[in-house]
Amino acid sequence: MFDKVLIANRGEIALRINRACHEMGVNTVAVHSTVDADAMHVRLADESVCIGGASATESYLNIPAIITAAVVTNSDAIHPGYGFLSESAKFASIVEEHGIGFIGPTSEHIALMGDKIASKAKVKELGIPVVPGSEEAINDIETAISVAKSIGYPILVKASAGGGGRGMQIVREQAELESALSRARSEAGAAFGNDAVYIEKFLERPRHIEIQVMGDNKKTVLHFGERDCSLQRRHQKVLEEAGSPALNADERDTIGKTVCDALAELGYQNAGTVEFLYQDGCFYFIEMNTRLQVEHPVTEMVTGLDIVREQLRVAAGAPLGMSQKDINFSGHAIECRINAENPINFIPSPGQVTDYHPPGGLGVRVDSGLYSGYRVQPYYDSLVSKLIVYGSNRNECLMRLRRTLDEYVIGGIDSTIPLHQEIITQPDFINGEYDIHWLEKMVERRSTS
Ligand code: ADP
Repeated sequence: MFDKVLIANRGEIALRINRACHEMGVNTVAVHSTVDADAMHVRLADESVCIGGASATESYLNIPAIITAAVVTNSDAIHPGYGFLSESAKFASIVEEHGIGFIGPTSEHIALMGDKIASKAKVKELGIPVVPGSEEAINDIETAISVAKSIGYPILVKASAGGGGRGMQIVREQAELESALSRARSEAGAAFGNDAVYIEKFLERPRHIEIQVMGDNKKTVLHFGERDCSLQRRHQKVLEEAGSPALNADERDTIGKTVCDALAELGYQNAGTVEFLYQDGCFYFIEMNTRLQVEHPVTEMVTGLDIVREQLRVAAGAPLGMSQKDINFSGHAIECRINAENPINFIPSPGQVTDYHPPGGLGVRVDSGLYSGYRVQPYYDSLVSKLIVYGSNRNECLMRLRRTLDEYVIGGIDSTIPLHQEIITQPDFINGEYDIHWLEKMVERRSTS
């Protein structure tokens, strides 16, 4: 096992990784920007290094500063968390070149899956079902017209380097195609420095269902079941469940096996998530994330497995040490992403937390860096807490979730707790009947009533 791990991240996920390390007897190094010196992830790590200014480009995205921090502290591995450098193949390969362990997949697999056109082609070849669409980048309007005709409107123009739901354009008829294509390309070029776009069939009422996987360096890949992340606003996940209210155990086994067989052939190592749209009983691959996901705790709650612990073990060269039949699913878990935002208009709400009381009790987990007196910074993502609740079935989970949301006090700033309180009282949500567009419609109804 590693002696010392540098955590190249901040906030709740840095704390989460710190916890797993300490439980395994591994020392930790926190890195932080100048404005994060008082953050909880810095206070609870064994050592800390300031790596630069407030803006992420100066600090959490600053590769030379992070590598230097790892070298001077004698860290033997780096965990990138999610966001920031977690899906940078360049960062992973620089870490590897310095003889430091990278707690994640190989840089080759990060690069492959970061290119959505290439990854779709590869997984299709490995037997995973994909959304119908173009197999290559679309460079001219004639090709776009012919692809769109063959799959039928509506279609979606997507960025090959896309992330965070940016650079997507829905096209409902041919007349809109040319302008959507150029809009998508310029948005993708500006956001990702790569203007390659492709076309996919736009699914009208799918759910977003993703499979958590873990691979070791002995070509064993296991799945830890699915998460339903259909509740989204602007293509960003808001609330996630494990398992999906729409899936039965047989469907889970079948898609899980398809994914594991494909990734074992690829030799995939460490944690990953294969994302699908699911409609009318069929799965359609959209992308693979080669990192720990924000929503991983719901999987931990229903499997009893610590995903970060497994990441550390396999990165240190240990075999997974279990087989698929050892992974059992019990009960139900829901995660609410709590953002420092106004719950009505979603305007970010940085500032000082004056009062803080997290909920507790059986089956309740709060992953957060907040404390009373903490100042939420305007420079980073507005996610400040994840409330994760477990119940022996979905109904118990929902009742407990309602109780914990009522109990949670975050004073001094706006938070999206009231949004979650509203979601969980909607009959469609209670019945598990929602798709990826449902939340947007709920928010729209609010603004027109
Ligand atoms: P990103 O990497 O930007 O998050 P994804 O490909 O993962 O992009 O898609 C994000 C979300 O956008 C999905 O969860 C889904 O809500 C929506 N989406 C993506 N592709 C399609 C599609 N073909 N049809 C309908 N919705 C889609």
